[in-house]
Amino acid sequence: AKRAGGNNFQFYSSDMRVASVEQLALETSLRKAIFKNEFVVHYQPKMDLARNRITSAEALVRWQHPTMGLLPPKDFIPLAEETGLISAIGELVLERSCRQAMQWHERGLGDICISVNLSAHQFRKGNVLEIIDRVLRTTGLPAQLLELELTESLIMEDLDKNIALLRELRARGISLSLDDFGTGYSSLSYLKRFPIDTLKIDRSFITELDQNQDDAAITRAIIDMAHSLNLRVVAEGVETESHLEILRDMGCDSIQGFLVSRPVPAPELLALLETQRQA
Ligand code: C2E
Ligand code: CA
Ligand code: CA
Ligand code: CA
Repeated sequence: AKRAGGNNFQFYSSDMRVASVEQLALETSLRKAIFKNEFVVHYQPKMDLARNRITSAEALVRWQHPTMGLLPPKDFIPLAEETGLISAIGELVLERSCRQAMQWHERGLGDICISVNLSAHQFRKGNVLEIIDRVLRTTGLPAQLLELELTESLIMEDLDKNIALLRELRARGISLSLDDFGTGYSSLSYLKRFPIDTLKIDRSFITELDQNQDDAAITRAIIDMAHSLNLRVVAEGVETESHLEILRDMGCDSIQGFLVSRPVPAPELLALLETQRQA
C-alpha cells in the first residue's frame, strides 16, 4: 500500500499539487467567509425601454476577501458550485438583496424588482422553497418584487420536478427569468413548457450586435419568438447607444448593461433611483 502511495505520487506534477493546495486553502477561506459573511452584493439596474425607467436590479455577489480585496464571482463561484458552498452563499445573497429591495420599496422609489441568481445546487438541495418563503416572510418583501434568474441547464437537470417547483414559485407571485438564453442546448420545444416570464438574451449575442449580421438575426428571432410565447425580453451586456437603438427597433422590452450602469453598491443604486424619481 505504501508503495502504491509512492507510485501515485508521481502522477501529480508539482503544478497540480500547488493548485490543489491553493484550492484547499481557498475552500477553507470560503467556508470562513460564509461564517463571517464577507460577501457584498452589487446591484445592476435594468431599464424598461417603454417607460424609460429603471424598474429592476440584478443582485450580483462579490467577496470582500480580507487580503485579496474585492473578488468577482468568477474567482470563487466555480469552487462554490463544486463544493456545494454556493447554496449557503446564495441564501446570504437572497436575504441581503430582498432586505435591500424592501428598503427601496419602503422609500417609495416606485416598485423596483430585485433579480436574484439561483444555482442548480440550490435547486438540487430540495429546500429552496422553504428558504425563499422564509426570506420573504422575514424581510416583508412582496413576492411580486422578487424575480429569480435560472438557466436552462438548471431546469433540464430534473425537468418534471423543477417545472413543478417553478410553478410553486410563480403561484406566490415571484417572477422567473431564463438567464443566458441562447447559450444552452435544450430544444426550443422545452421552452414552451417552462413556466417563466422573461427571457434574458445572453451578452454574447449583444456584444457585436451592430457589426455581426448573424447576431442581429438571432437576437431579432429570439425577441419575436419570446413575444409570441408571451414572454418579456431583457438584453444583457448592452454597452453602447447603437446596441440600444437596435434593440429598441427590434422591440426588446428591457436592457441591462454598462450603458445604463455597471453593477454598483446599494448606495449608488439608491442615488440613481432617487434621481429618476425626481425626473
Ligand atoms: P450573469 O448572471 O450572466 O450576470 C451578468 C454579468 O455580466 C455580471 O458579471 C455583470 O457584471 C456583467 N455585465 C453586465 N453588463 C455588462 C456589460 O455591459 N458588459 C460586460 N462586459 N459585462 C456586463 P459578474 O457580476 O462578474 O457575474 C458573473 C456571473 O456570476 C453571473 O453572470 C452569474 O452567473 C454569477 N453570479 C453572480 N452573482 C451570483 C449569485 O448571487 N448567485 C449565483 N448562483 N451566481 C451568481
Ligand atoms: Ca443573471
Ligand atoms: Ca445572464
Ligand atoms: Ca451571461
